[in-house]
Amino acid sequence: MSYDVAALRKDFPILRQKVHGKRLVYLDNAATSQKPQAVIDRVTRFYEQENANVHRGVHLLSETATKEYESARARVARFINASPQETIFVRGTTEAINLVANTFVRARLRKGDEIVVTQMEHHSNIVPWQLLCEQVGAKLRVVPVDDNGDLDLAAYAAALGPKTRFVAVVHVSNALGTVNPVQRLVQEAHAKGIPILVDGAQAVPHMPVDVRALGCDFYAFSGHKMYGPTGVGVLYGKQEHLEAMPPWMGGGDMIRSVTFEKSTWNELPYKFEAGTPNIAGGIGLGAAVDYLQKVGLVAIAEHEHRVLEHATQQALTIPGLRIIGTAINKAGVLSFTLEGIHPHDIGSLVDRDGVAIRTGHHCAQPVMERFGVPATCRASLGLYNDTDDIDALIASLHGVVRMFA
Ligand code: PMP
Repeated sequence: MSYDVAALRKDFPILRQKVHGKRLVYLDNAATSQKPQAVIDRVTRFYEQENANVHRGVHLLSETATKEYESARARVARFINASPQETIFVRGTTEAINLVANTFVRARLRKGDEIVVTQMEHHSNIVPWQLLCEQVGAKLRVVPVDDNGDLDLAAYAAALGPKTRFVAVVHVSNALGTVNPVQRLVQEAHAKGIPILVDGAQAVPHMPVDVRALGCDFYAFSGHKMYGPTGVGVLYGKQEHLEAMPPWMGGGDMIRSVTFEKSTWNELPYKFEAGTPNIAGGIGLGAAVDYLQKVGLVAIAEHEHRVLEHATQQALTIPGLRIIGTAINKAGVLSFTLEGIHPHDIGSLVDRDGVAIRTGHHCAQPVMERFGVPATCRASLGLYNDTDDIDALIASLHGVVRMFA
């Protein structure tokens, strides 16, 4: 069956909205995605019919909530080819990375050691490592990107030295769209005995991800960027690591027994899930995964690629437009500047035409600096965007250019 984007758009009630009297053209999916009716309904059904705390009660509602929450975990785990024990529900990518920094990496980092990241990381894959390095007296080593926004692979290989204790790389750059050759990066790190975390926030909604095939030690992503609720995300970790790691946050649910002398920890994944979790969020994320699988990640990737190609071609018709990020292997992100016009002005003007794009540094200031710009405009695609959306953006941008001419 061919990809029926018009039918898929109908699954997303928010897209029926008019913005400033115009058809809503939502091109800010890298910031957060819209939610299909199936996810909205699933969360509503939880609160209407199943709400109770999990892992505690013997009453029917608590058993139902627990069963649904754990079923969601199992489906999310299968979705990335992990086991439920290796699938830890967290608040999102940011929390997942902070968890690994403060447990696994903190335990093995000493003064003078190094952590390798890339120049295209989101702040959430820079700052946790920076904080840790400052506390321990370790150093951050940064692998540069070239003029297209591709990672310098020779520099990556050279950065992995005897002092490297950990690598943290982004799978798909939110600012440039670059898809990194993660499997290769993992193999090169492992060849030198170095564990590696992959920030998959911008990959999981756009392409099939198999954490075992990638071979990474940790993989982090957020529910809200993959058509699920906010406030829930996943840390995948290899079981042997998770078992060896100390807990991070203490509280209810993560313990086996507590005395004032000593507490012992619950089994995986609960050891890392202190306190009442985001139950509705987890269940909603399960529904988002069901939805994504029904549409098909391969089909989504192909569709978004076609729309991106159209967007790239059309963008080049606009005088003074410079695309930031021209890697060959790119996911659905079009970052650009218009000569002599501030990105914030562009964002506000296209908004009047109903077009929602992001302007700013996209929480990736170092890569903005690399390209010599303080900010860009970014149109980022979701599975429901079509060429009409792109044509609306392009027409609006032509209007902006005329206005400033
Ligand atoms: N990494 C990347 C590549 C991202 O795009 C984002 C979100 N913009 C994050 C991490 C952080 O995700 P969250 O805010 O959901 O924790």
